[in-house]
Amino acid sequence: MSRHELVKPEIAGIAEYVPGRSIGEIARNYGLDPASIIKLGSNENVLGPSSRAIEAIMACAGKVNLYPSADASELVEAISVYTGFPVENICAAGPGMDGLLDNLMRLLISPGDEIILPIPTFSYYEVAARANGAVPVHVDLGEDFVLDVDAVINAESPGTKVIFLCSPNNPTGKQVNEGDLRRILENTRGLVFVDEAYVEFSDHNYASLVNEYDNLIIGRTLSKAFGLAGMRLGYGIMPAWLRQQYMKIATPFNISVPSVVAGVAALSDSGHLQESILCAREGRDFLMENIPFKVYESQANFVLVDVAPLNSGDVSEVLLKKGIIVRDCRSFKGAGDSLIRVTVGTSAQNEKVVEAFEEVSAQV
Ligand SMILES: *Cc1c(COP(=O)(O)O)cnc(C)c1O
Repeated sequence: MSRHELVKPEIAGIAEYVPGRSIGEIARNYGLDPASIIKLGSNENVLGPSSRAIEAIMACAGKVNLYPSADASELVEAISVYTGFPVENICAAGPGMDGLLDNLMRLLISPGDEIILPIPTFSYYEVAARANGAVPVHVDLGEDFVLDVDAVINAESPGTKVIFLCSPNNPTGKQVNEGDLRRILENTRGLVFVDEAYVEFSDHNYASLVNEYDNLIIGRTLSKAFGLAGMRLGYGIMPAWLRQQYMKIATPFNISVPSVVAGVAALSDSGHLQESILCAREGRDFLMENIPFKVYESQANFVLVDVAPLNSGDVSEVLLKKGIIVRDCRSFKGAGDSLIRVTVGTSAQNEKVVEAFEEVSAQV
């Protein structure tokens, strides 16, 4: 038996996760000063963390010899206040929403269960589900990446366990509309996971539907609008019956002491949140209007640029050499080879992004 055969066969077919590029890597590869690099490849908050979160992290440093509370109850309370849901509907999770997905897949998926994935979308759903033996069923998003709701419903089978919808969708920036979501919820015997990682930047959120549908799970994160990507904090809003089961298998102490206090502090800082939302909304309008390629309308803190007939790999490379990190979307299943996702930056950063795309387009 080869050593590779010791690994579960489910894992063999999973493609390696391609993360956004880091400042250190780009500085080394292109001989750039790290301080000059603009990082717009991972949809982080370009305004930085809330100052309240920074203070809370510093203040807890002397107490990290102690375990955090097993269920992060202080953080769950703060999420309850922020969302308006009782704690019976809330699971706080680490590391990030990815940790929530891992726990949910461990809870729900038996080998052979099917998951439905409209693509292109965030790739970690598939990784977490397949590691537990799920069979992915991909449904192409329709024209201009508008969700083809009939195709999703038609993909349903007796083995369907979870349907993943990302709203606003990463990398397209589009939201699911409410009628479509209701139809999907009403036509599946499985659960629907709606990923609202970017919901603070958008016009609609669907959390209130958890009170109406007992097969809906909402996934959220503090990595984007709340500026805490480095703390790895996520949470879920789900029906009480499901939360009860979830809590049986959730890793105890899965949120660190600094993460708990940072999360509580960030959730209380509505000033920082509003500023972050405004920055993303104004900036995405500016990028839409000024990037000289097709830019999709976005409800998130990023925009999707179609550089066709150019190749997204070549264009990303040109931007990287100028010290602008963007996300080449070729690693997203179903995205083709001309899409680039750009996080909305500060005004100064957005101007540099536009200039760089103008130079690229002038050379076509
Ligand atoms: C960033 C992101 C997440 C993951 O967030 P973490 O909480 O940092 O793990 C989940 N879903 C989507 C669509 C994202 O873009």
